[in-house]
Amino acid sequence: MIDLAIIGGGPAGLSAGLYATRGGIKNVVLFEKGMPGGQITGSSEIENYPGVKEVISGLEFMEPWQEQCFRFGLQHEMSEISRISKSGEIFEILDTSGKVSQAKAVIFATGGRPKRAGIKGESEFWGRGVSTCATCDGFFYKDKEVAVLGGGDTALEEAVYLTRMCKKVYLIHRRDGFRAAPTTIEHVKNNPKIQIVTPSIVEEIRGDSSGVSSVVIKNIQSGELRELAVPGIFIFVGYDVNTQILTQEDGSMLCECDEYKSVKVDLSMRTSVSGLFAAGDVRIQAPKQVVCAAGDGATAALQAISYLEQAK
Ligand SMILES: Cc1cc2nc3c(=O)[nH]c(=O)nc-3n(C[C@H](O)[C@H](O)[C@H](O)COP(=O)(O)OP(=O)(O)OC[C@H]3O[C@@H](n4cnc5c(N)ncnc54)[C@H](O)[C@@H]3O)c2cc1C
Repeated sequence: MIDLAIIGGGPAGLSAGLYATRGGIKNVVLFEKGMPGGQITGSSEIENYPGVKEVISGLEFMEPWQEQCFRFGLQHEMSEISRISKSGEIFEILDTSGKVSQAKAVIFATGGRPKRAGIKGESEFWGRGVSTCATCDGFFYKDKEVAVLGGGDTALEEAVYLTRMCKKVYLIHRRDGFRAAPTTIEHVKNNPKIQIVTPSIVEEIRGDSSGVSSVVIKNIQSGELRELAVPGIFIFVGYDVNTQILTQEDGSMLCECDEYKSVKVDLSMRTSVSGLFAAGDVRIQAPKQVVCAAGDGATAALQAISYLEQAK
């Protein structure tokens, strides 16, 4: 019987592992399908984690996190989980090989992934001019012109955010109207640094060994092609949270989720199911930043410790 199972070994899961083991929980197992580290290990640079002055790659940045956890006794099981369910007071964790592990409490920290638009050049320049996070990468384009693709709340909010440091933001969307809050649309329309480019799609992202140099856009009404010389494009066409493993045999979800399938939590990272906590990008209203995911993980672990003590 595992005391605390942590599903997902990104910043949220690893912080949870650190706080849980240091907090005295004996049998803490981290289930991670790959190498621990999470999404950030795919980033070539991170420079906004407090206290870390150097700009380093996501892989280098996350390496000491696991070492630190393992020093305090966190156990790592490399396996992909396919379902979490609860039977009485005990959680059952099924992996893709069919093995079932049992745990008294679970911290769910499986993160998510930004959707790709499927544009020519997108994969080639991913992380080298193609970004999905203005908070993370906007500063790299200080005083430069950038493109933003998307027409929802996130795209518009991020476009406005980018105008704080960029010279100009081209906001490209395939429809003339945006699917965002009316006030956000107003902010975009009134912002002199944003040029709205509609109804248009991005046909191709171009560049060379140093990264993106331009995007080719097509007006879908006239068919006209135009090349915008920008060193960066931010793509906001949706985000998938990894919550499918909460789906039960009858199709219901183990705990309450919102319309985007993000897990509903309170400020203590408690879900609607007792003993189940969620942390990081997988939870509702996550700022999708490493520092926030780490904070969530610590909060969830402290709550899990109290839960396990009360359950004794
Ligand atoms: C390219 C890029 C650049 C970024 N740059 C920055 C930045 O500069 N600064 C910043 O603060 N943030 C940045 N972010 C955001 C940051 O990476 C995330 O906010 C953070 O990683 C979220 O942590 P998490 O632990 O919640 O989830 P994740 O990092 O997504 O970790 C979840 C883990 O769960 C595992 N997992 C998922 N499903 C299963 C399963 N079924 N079984 C077992 N394991 C599973 C995954 O393999 C993964 O390791 C960036 C993100 C990307 C993609």
